[in-house]
Amino acid sequence: MDVRLLYHTPEPERAVAVAARLCYAPVGAADLMDDLPDESVRKVLRIIMGSGHFSALEHASYTFAVDGVSRAMTHQLVRHRLASYNQQSQRYVAYDEEPHFIVPPTVADDPAALSRFDAATSAAFAAYRELIESGVPAEDARYLLPNAMETKIVITMNVRELLHFLELRCCKRAQWEIRELALAMLGLAEPTAPYIFMDAGASCRRGPCREGKMTCGEPYERAPRRE
Ligand SMILES: Cc1cc2nc3c(=O)[nH]c(=O)nc-3n(C[C@H](O)[C@H](O)[C@H](O)COP(=O)(O)OP(=O)(O)OC[C@H]3O[C@@H](n4cnc5c(N)ncnc54)[C@H](O)[C@@H]3O)c2cc1C
Repeated sequence: MDVRLLYHTPEPERAVAVAARLCYAPVGAADLMDDLPDESVRKVLRIIMGSGHFSALEHASYTFAVDGVSRAMTHQLVRHRLASYNQQSQRYVAYDEEPHFIVPPTVADDPAALSRFDAATSAAFAAYRELIESGVPAEDARYLLPNAMETKIVITMNVRELLHFLELRCCKRAQWEIRELALAMLGLAEPTAPYIFMDAGASCRRGPCREGKMTCGEPYERAPRRE
């Protein structure tokens, strides 16, 4: 999996704090952008994150390029509706060479399972190529391609949605591949806005687990909370 932060709103913490502070300021957002002291930015962020008044978080956004992930993973990812996506098309890209298939660790660690997995993905691709060569359009031949097939996707999320995504998908209850993606996204976003992402991640980062009976029962593994 290759996850890169392509770009984000410049000064994301200031952008969010200015939007929130505007509600109570006699001056406009442009003036606040220039003049709001850093200490006030942090104070406003503390209030927003503590109070749950999250709408100001929608004024900063992040765009990630993600390669080397499976279609099984992106199918889960795009269930997050308040984000923007563009994904490599299986209609417009017809594959000549056998593509890379993402192998889950449980399969990779079991030689017999890996052998069956490799045989099945190769057979599916061979049948796909036969359909293409017999004139079936890629958009129909692709029905044979496995969920394991590698894909590429670009994701844009505003900070409110990103925090929500991280809460659900950094959790140990999440499927391993989307969790790996979420942890990578958190690792890339956090240095750009340390106050906003200070407690980001699974719900147990901020309080009791919200997964009820499905809880993993284990503490979340992340650096201790900063004061
Ligand atoms: C551990 C785990 C297991 C899962 N298992 C399954 C499963 O078995 N089957 C399955 O189908 N899905 C499953 N999902 C997917 C899950 O049901 C959600 O579709 C997915 O996590 C997106 O979450 P969301 O709707 O909160 O987020 P988003 O789509 O990112 O939306 C963010 C928030 O915006 C608000 N919102 C968005 N759209 C609407 C709307 N139309 N109306 C009102 N409010 C809205 C909600 O507050 C929502 O929480 C699973 C997810 C996880 C994390």
